[in-house]
This record gives sequence, structure tokens and C-alpha cells, in this order.
Amino acid sequence: MKNIYLDNNATTPLREEVLEAMMPYLRESYGNPSSVHSFGKKVRQAIEAARETIANALGVTADELYFTTCGTESNNLALKGVAFSKIAEKRNKIVVSSIEHPCVQQSAKYLVNKGFNVCFLPVKPDGIIDIEVARREIDENTLIVSTLYANNEIGTIQPVAEIGKIAKANGALFHVDAVQALGKIPFKVGEFGADMLTVSAHKIYGPKGTAALFIRKGLKLEPLMHGGHQEKRMRPGTENPAGIIGFGKAVEEVLMDLEDGTIERIRSLRDRLQDNLLSRLDEVKLNGHMELRVPNTVNISFKYVEGESLLLMLDNKGVAVSTGSACSSGSLEPSHVITSMGIPAEVAHGSIRFSLSRYNTQEEIDYAADAVVEVVNKLRDFSPLWEDFKKSKQ
Ligand code: PLP
Repeated sequence: MKNIYLDNNATTPLREEVLEAMMPYLRESYGNPSSVHSFGKKVRQAIEAARETIANALGVTADELYFTTCGTESNNLALKGVAFSKIAEKRNKIVVSSIEHPCVQQSAKYLVNKGFNVCFLPVKPDGIIDIEVARREIDENTLIVSTLYANNEIGTIQPVAEIGKIAKANGALFHVDAVQALGKIPFKVGEFGADMLTVSAHKIYGPKGTAALFIRKGLKLEPLMHGGHQEKRMRPGTENPAGIIGFGKAVEEVLMDLEDGTIERIRSLRDRLQDNLLSRLDEVKLNGHMELRVPNTVNISFKYVEGESLLLMLDNKGVAVSTGSACSSGSLEPSHVITSMGIPAEVAHGSIRFSLSRYNTQEEIDYAADAVVEVVNKLRDFSPLWEDFKKSKQ
């Protein structure tokens, strides 16, 4: 039985070097980093070293980096921490894109109930935020603009530098969700002037349960939790030392992947998969901009096919992929990202995301492509709509 994992935007396997770096902090070095004795001090030092590594990688200072438990928490803290702070006394508009991860989308919707005015910026058919609309919508009443850097479903890279400039010009804060960008494209926070930025360990071969939020020095957010002095009271609660140390190691290693040809190998495997599928199957559509896309992601709509059925049949063949559909109240909603690009719901329903990692091989990619072609053809054989389509072409 094959075991081919092509769902790395959901989460990545833990890197061996990361696990090794974490182990001592799960076994012998178990002190509480807040303790002043040697057990605590040793762990504190390792946490601060990890903070330094991650801050350096992002081009920020260590005291601007706050550890959290996940990207979802960092994004909630960025949006709500600003909305509940004194900064919000004079402005009440929140601008986010229409292809945000649900944690930003839902935080923004929640803030509508708290009296904020939320604008969802549309994307163009290529899945890139419409900058002209951004220019119109971001104004002097805008408190915060939040956009992802790379989209998790289609991989499109957003014009964060341009959006940052518009936000700045209007005196608005700028938050970037870089969860899917870190380790896939090189960047430093200074390149787009973000006031806040989210990263998460488990998307870069690090452990689950650890993430960070960069908060520019001087910016005073309202914490969402109250307790001890950890993370300068911005995020109280005993830290997760093994997780944080693993995160530091994961960042260090993934930056090397960007330089030593690993990311280019991933890109060529992704392109091989994409070319294989687009050339062998009719009525398929690549979703999102061809070039402005992270190297590991390809999202394809297979017309006349139900994405969930395709996913389950591929799983039976040992190939793990994902659809952007959200199972809500018993009905399958098509992905908001795909429909935001103007793709009709029935086509969006047949969309599949393939997201690769440094561990995928050419043999796996070729097996996966063969499996997709076989399953799509099989599903279409059962589809009366496909029959009608074929007749209409005769
Ligand atoms: N933002 C983006 C773009 C993501 O892809 C994800 C996870 O898929 C998150 C935020 C949430 O991160 P986490 O899973 O660490 O909560």
C-alpha cells in the first residue's frame, strides 16, 4: 500500500533534526522557564535562543516576537488585540481579503458584532487581491489591514508590499499572515513594512502547537488572555519549551531549503504533477496565478467530478490530498477561496489541492498523477453530466 502525502499545506511531517533538538526538553530539561533556579534558567536560555533565530530569519528583533500556540491564535491576537486596544478609539474599519484563512475571516466577522465595519477585498480571477479596490477601500478610518502573504488553498502570493504602502499612507496598521509563505519564499518583514506578522511551526516541518506573532516595537495590543508575565503579558501561560525550540530549529533548517536547491526541486516536482494532469485530462482548470504562486502548491478543478469523492478514492490508493470544502451543517460548501475567484460552485466542488514537501519523490508524484487520472476517468464514467457534455461536443 502506498503512503503518499501531498497535503503539506495542512501540516508537514516533523523534521528529524527538529525532533532531535526537541527531545532534551521533553526529557531531562523539564524546568519551567519562569523558574529562577538552574532548571528554569537552562530552558529560558534555549527559548531565547530560538526567539533570536526566528527573529533574525524574519528580519525583526527578538523582543518583537511573541510565542503563541498556533497561527490561528496569532491571527486572532493581531486582529482582536488591535480592535480592543486604545488605537481603535479613533478608527473602526477593518480590511481583510476575501481569501483569508478562516481564522482571520471569522475574527473579522466576530468584530462586526463588536461594532466594527469590515471590508472583504475581492480577488481577481487569478486569485490575487485587486489592488485598485484596496486603494479605494483603505481609508483614513481604517484601523487595520490584514492579508495573507501566500494563500493556503491555491498558493497565490499577494502584493503585500503594495498593500502595506496603501495601509501606511492612510495611517492604518498592517498585519500579514505569513503562515504559508515562510520557508516557501524568501522575505524579511521590512520589505513590506508589516506592523504584525504571523508564522506557524507545523507548516515548516516543526511541531504542532507552536507559532509566533511579530508585533512592531511600540505597538500596544490588548492581550486576549490574562495571567502571568510570560511573553511580556501579551500571551501569558507557561511556554511550550520543546515546541518553541523545535520551531527555532525548523526555521533554521527551512531557510537552508530555500538556498540549497531543495525548494527548486519541490517546484519542479509540482510542475511535473501539474503538467502531467493538465495534459492527460480534459476539462480541468488550474486555479490561481501561474507564476505568483508558492512552489509547492497546485490547485486544480476537475470538471464533472465531485472533489470529496476524488479525495476519498485517492486516499484508498494511498494518496493524501485535500479539497477546500468545509463541511458545514451537513452540507458541503464549496471553498470560499475558489468561489472568490469567480469560479462557479459546481466547478469549485471539483477542486483539489496538491501541496508538496521536501520529502516527496518523483516516483510518488508520477504514481499520484496516474492515480488521479484513473480516478477522475472512473468518476466521470458514472456522471450523467459528463455524458451530456461529451454528447454536446459530438
Ligand atoms: N493562516 C494560514 C494561511 C494557514 O494556512 C493556516 C493553517 O492552515 C493558519 C493561518 C492557521 O495556522 P494554525 O494551523 O497554526 O492554527
